[in-house]
Amino acid sequence: MGINSHKLSIFTPMENKITNIKKQLKGLTLQELKGYFEEIGEPKYRGEQLFNWMYNHLSFDFSEMQNLSKSIRQKLDENCQIQTLELVTVQDSPSTGTKKYLFNTADDKKIESVIIPEEDRATLCISTQVGCPLDCKFCATGIMGYKRNLSVGEIVDQYLLAAKDYGKDRLTNIVYMGMGEPLLNYKNTLSSLSIFTDELTKGVSRNRITVSTSGIAPKIIELANSDLRIKLAFSLHSCFEDIRNQIMPINKKYSLKENIEALKFFEKKTGKRITFEYTMFKGLNDRPEDIKALSRLCREIPSKLNIIPFNSIAHMNPGGVSATLEPTPIDKLQEFAQRLRDNNITVMVRQTQGGDIAAACGQLAVKY
Ligand code: SAH
Ligand code: SF4
Repeated sequence: MGINSHKLSIFTPMENKITNIKKQLKGLTLQELKGYFEEIGEPKYRGEQLFNWMYNHLSFDFSEMQNLSKSIRQKLDENCQIQTLELVTVQDSPSTGTKKYLFNTADDKKIESVIIPEEDRATLCISTQVGCPLDCKFCATGIMGYKRNLSVGEIVDQYLLAAKDYGKDRLTNIVYMGMGEPLLNYKNTLSSLSIFTDELTKGVSRNRITVSTSGIAPKIIELANSDLRIKLAFSLHSCFEDIRNQIMPINKKYSLKENIEALKFFEKKTGKRITFEYTMFKGLNDRPEDIKALSRLCREIPSKLNIIPFNSIAHMNPGGVSATLEPTPIDKLQEFAQRLRDNNITVMVRQTQGGDIAAACGQLAVKY
């Protein structure tokens, strides 16, 4: 199905509010905002007020901030800005209710976020990089290559703009599973988490925020040592080093063994179960020995397993290993899941959603 087949509406870009001259306040944490107001000779509590306007009231306009005096609003308007992204299009999938948001950055890069509604929740999937440098063989974002890290403001604005469109109260979960590897943009990812989990932030609870990583072991340790207490998903895909090496080149730098040690540390330190993500490829990771190895690993680490059907990346016309990857047929996938459940492993089979608007896992890739 064509990518534009269900275009819902087109937002004309807002008049250009994003400049390189004005100071960008969107993306500053509470501490940093307080520091900024101190710097300009205003009381620190103004930082708290601005924090509330930007992150709780979804305000993109200083003139709305009625509890700031007119002179401060004017001063802020002259010197600062609080918008990093423009919402370009929203596409929806009538069959599943999935929505895909396309944003434009100030330097004219395109990024995407997706909302996946389920029975009792709606999950926003956000991006942390433009493209991704890690080149996983099954991932459209990897194939598109790497452009740059997103700023804290750009990470947070995906949520704020999507929440404005969709309704903040309806958005219950955030997953860092869009474009890019969050732990390679560690500092900005951490600041965005610190904004989402701040005591002042009324929104998604920290138990409903998940960062997904392909396995940057030293950063998993750092994340465990931060006091953020968010959840971690690990893109496992195989319990065997040689197969991971084939489909995830990053495994040659940080082996599965090293990552497993880091994950054990994360679980012990935070008390939060690890989610293993397991995309299934025919003949590669759907064999009896995979069931055995997965059962062993899931017993070793308090965890649950998410099995993900492989979403086609044929629209990227990939070559090499990528061209050889095929999905495990769905009945075989269900049987695989059942065999694991028989071994007392907690298994979820993720319904693939949004395939018709190329919004499913690993399909995010903006053509340049
Ligand atoms: N870089 C991070 C987060 C973004 S990818 C990571 O790799 O974990 C989010 C999830 O989508 C990962 O589990 C990834 O392995 C999975 N994924 C990527 N391409 C996919 C595809 N074509 N089909 C199904 N899942 C895919
Ligand atoms: Fe990057 Fe994750 Fe895609 Fe791998 S799966 S290329 S780490 S976005």
